[in-house]
Amino acid sequence: MMEKRYIGVDLGGTSMKMGVVDGTGHIVCEMEQPTLGQEGPDGVIKRMISHARDLANQSGTPWDQIGGIGVGLPGFLDIPNGVVKHLTNLGWNEVPIRDRLQAAWELPVVINNDANVAALGEAWCGAGAGVDDVVCITLGTGVGGGIIAGGRLIQGMNGFAGEIGHIQMDPRGYQCNCGQTGCLETISSATGMVRMAMEGLNEGRVSILKEMVPGQNQLTTRDLFAAAARNDKLAQEVIDRAIDALARALAILSVVLNPARFIIGGGVSKAGDALFEPLRLAYGKVTQKNAAQGVEILPAKLGNQAGIIGAAGLIARSPN
Ligand SMILES: [Zn+2]
Repeated sequence: MMEKRYIGVDLGGTSMKMGVVDGTGHIVCEMEQPTLGQEGPDGVIKRMISHARDLANQSGTPWDQIGGIGVGLPGFLDIPNGVVKHLTNLGWNEVPIRDRLQAAWELPVVINNDANVAALGEAWCGAGAGVDDVVCITLGTGVGGGIIAGGRLIQGMNGFAGEIGHIQMDPRGYQCNCGQTGCLETISSATGMVRMAMEGLNEGRVSILKEMVPGQNQLTTRDLFAAAARNDKLAQEVIDRAIDALARALAILSVVLNPARFIIGGGVSKAGDALFEPLRLAYGKVTQKNAAQGVEILPAKLGNQAGIIGAAGLIARSPN
């Protein structure tokens, strides 16, 4: 008899990616389709339903061999009830997506937010494989996070657990999208770093960023790391500030959760050693010694596939 397989769906603003995943987290077959958000929730869900059936066929997996389907979504969710409260990218409000999918597929369906799903993927068979306590952080437009403790994804009462980007690091800092001020996200996300650099430039700071990026609106964190490698003071200050805030957030998480590994992904993490080496140093300085003992800070491994694998893991790795 064939072992159970699972389908993981990663719904984004522009594309929906899905894969048939086996019981060890290996992707057997995958596909990517445009989301076509303009069709609204009904159209998108309808196509999601038929794509999953097609994918199972393509992979040679009989439908009754699929153990269930997990779906990662980028927004505010009521996870226990399977309802999308609000998806900013797609303009969805109050969509009972789980029940609709479950009725159409006649399989168990679990939803969760994209950051948690990516964390579960990395913990299962990415950079977190082999340990039970992992915190994943995505440094992109925002700062996302997901927590695996004792091998289980932690969601909390309102599904807000793991929203590491909203730890307040600077009470007098910038306004955050969430309504607070000075959240980690305002300092250590790509958006936050670029904004700090632009402010420096607008204040008339001397910086090679001016020549490197003539249209300042196109400034990226990649430019910041490149400028810092050429001893640019402004770029280095922005990076130091981002790393310092991140290290202090990891220090807090270490005394609360004592994870074995922090896994860092997202666009900013592509800076590689220029990010990870000073981050490890800063973390060692600001973290309580016993909590920091043996802790590793590693780059994420799975890239885009974390979403598919983690979504399948919502079912494959569920304790029931
Ligand atoms: Zn915030």
